Amino acid sequence: MVYTPATPLTALTGVGPARAKKLEKLGLTHLGNLLDYYPHRYEDRRTVYTIREAPAGEACCVCAMVADYPTLSHIRKGMDLVKLRVVDHTGQLHLTFFNQSYLREVFRPGDSYVFFGKVEAMGHRRSMTSPAFEPEGRGQITGRILPVYPLTAGVSNQLLLSLAQQAVEHCTQQAPDAIPAPVRLSHQLCQREFALQNIHFPRDYEALALARRRLIFEEFFTLTCGLGLLKERRVQGEGTPLPPPPMHAYLSLLPFTPTGAQRRAMEDIAGDIARPRPMNRLVMGDVGSGKTVVAAYAAWAAACNGVQCALMAPTELLAEQHYRTLTALLSPAGVSVALLTGSVKGKERKAILSQLEQGALSVAVGTHALFSEGVRYARLGLVITDEQHRFGVAQRAALAAKGSALGAQPHVLVMSATPIPRTLALLIYGDLEVSILDELPPGRTPISTFAVGEAKRQGMYGFIREQVAQGRQVYIVCPAVGDTEGLIPLPQEEDAPDLKAATAYAQQLQTQVFPHLRVGLVHGKMKAREKESVMSAFSQGQVDILVSTTVIEVGVDVPNATVMIVENAERFGLSQLHQLRGRVGRGCHKSWCILVSASRGEAARERLCTLCRTTDGFEIAEADLTLRGPGDFFGKRQHGLPQLKVADFASDVELLHEARDAAQALLAQDPDLSQPEHALLRQRVGEIFAQEADTFN
Ligand code: ADP
Ligand code: MG
Repeated sequence: MVYTPATPLTALTGVGPARAKKLEKLGLTHLGNLLDYYPHRYEDRRTVYTIREAPAGEACCVCAMVADYPTLSHIRKGMDLVKLRVVDHTGQLHLTFFNQSYLREVFRPGDSYVFFGKVEAMGHRRSMTSPAFEPEGRGQITGRILPVYPLTAGVSNQLLLSLAQQAVEHCTQQAPDAIPAPVRLSHQLCQREFALQNIHFPRDYEALALARRRLIFEEFFTLTCGLGLLKERRVQGEGTPLPPPPMHAYLSLLPFTPTGAQRRAMEDIAGDIARPRPMNRLVMGDVGSGKTVVAAYAAWAAACNGVQCALMAPTELLAEQHYRTLTALLSPAGVSVALLTGSVKGKERKAILSQLEQGALSVAVGTHALFSEGVRYARLGLVITDEQHRFGVAQRAALAAKGSALGAQPHVLVMSATPIPRTLALLIYGDLEVSILDELPPGRTPISTFAVGEAKRQGMYGFIREQVAQGRQVYIVCPAVGDTEGLIPLPQEEDAPDLKAATAYAQQLQTQVFPHLRVGLVHGKMKAREKESVMSAFSQGQVDILVSTTVIEVGVDVPNATVMIVENAERFGLSQLHQLRGRVGRGCHKSWCILVSASRGEAARERLCTLCRTTDGFEIAEADLTLRGPGDFFGKRQHGLPQLKVADFASDVELLHEARDAAQALLAQDPDLSQPEHALLRQRVGEIFAQEADTFN
């Protein structure tokens, strides 16, 4: 049988239907898939020791001969031991295997094996427990640098290793290179075949480094080519020009003077939407930098041109808040605003839908319900999404598609309160123009931040009482119960501090700690209505202390709140903590952020110190990326970018820049990658953006 990348795994010996199903879970259905199913680490098993020289306490390979027949002993129900003595010219080694009774039939005196495991030394006695092993001379799992693959239940490393071996053997020559030869040569990248061989079965660590470098470059290169294409496509699309009326007409609606940064962002938008191609702009600014009035400006300009605007927020809470702000700002100018979320139902919903369809409504504020089935717009000209990192590149494309039904693509404005490291911005927003709000509105009082341990808890409660006595309000945020999405897993050596479960904690605070104060609670599992009523009670000053999970993370604005307390702060990412801190310091009173952590871990402490030191969101984001790694910078795949297989946004920054420059140079010369020598690259780009197949069709 001739193996090719298209050979189904079921055609290989050792892969039956059951195993195939499990492999499919890892995205492996064909032999070719194995090529870029990379090991996530390696074990250096090159040195094979004699029994005496084998370093105690370390996993290593030992070559030895079976001395006696193995013995099987039954310890208790569900616990069998196979014991085996092996020898070489330097000594003897005692092996124990748990619950592998079949091994009694495997080992025969006189046979030589290489065992891999941790050698324990007790006096002169040397032993190993449940080592991996193979006959001497086979060299599959010993005597080499062993690739260790990400596994799933029912799929062993051994299986993946043998599949990868076959893939590398049969398919690497048939895996043509997507990197154009001139690019490969000018960036000193190794051949694809060499790279694939050595990423799986490194000859040595130098070869592995060369292989990695090439594959990382390839990954970034393909990705940035794809984003370049997306951007290009946008630029070419047809948009409806919406020349805005003079700015002062809008400014007269505002209760304050805009900051220079806000004004610049509005001018950027004015310039964009006046042109006959769709705007695709990101406004990125720290919490409190005043993004809402910038968004409102765009909505206003759209309304003045007789087109509709949809403003989408990630939560109902935020949608409702935006709805209130926009109504207050724009209704005096005669612009109609409506709220459309999942909880708007019945008659009300019907009325809004029909007004939208007839064009009687200018601005619809809501959640993704704005784009659900059955919502039709008469003339959708502008789509604004707030807190963008919760939506992905794919969703942006979907939104654009909604408007395209009308022939022209709507203008797209994205607001992000998450300052992100430049390197990530480069990728995540690679298809957008960017305006940065780097100036806070005047009159903000700086926030003091402290990281404290349990010892300070009573003092902290006293401080809360003082603040409330002065008429201020307090947030207390806990990690969500049973919902660890987006939270940092604890390093294992750290003892898990008792997670404050919001509901129980709120109760305890109310009954035992602050019996005379008003304690409220919001968490993600509550109904939108309930959340809304607690939040509005808080913003009207009817609640003193609001205990919550991170549902308040984004956007909520209560200027009278002056204290932000975060429990189990070590469980949050720095950027997330920074967002939380941004909930206070919004009014004229001095504000505090207290990060409570019982964690004694050095790393945890250091992370929290970053926040005490600076309030610059961009600096914090960089630190977060470096300390925490980018893997889950935004939670699982929320950035909407294809998952990277070898590359790492944080540690491979230099290669990222190199690859991006190469991609830009290539696109300058062949903007849609239509030249025949770029066909394969074009195809790869399509593949890695598979979730957005439509965009690349
Ligand atoms: P964010 O960028 O976090 O979305 P918001 O748009 O919610 O910030 O603005 C935060 C607060 O600052 C709001 O209460 C808003 O009214 C106020 N604000 C915005 N711009 C200005 C300004 N130029 N001068 C004074 N206050 C402003
Ligand atoms: Mg906001």
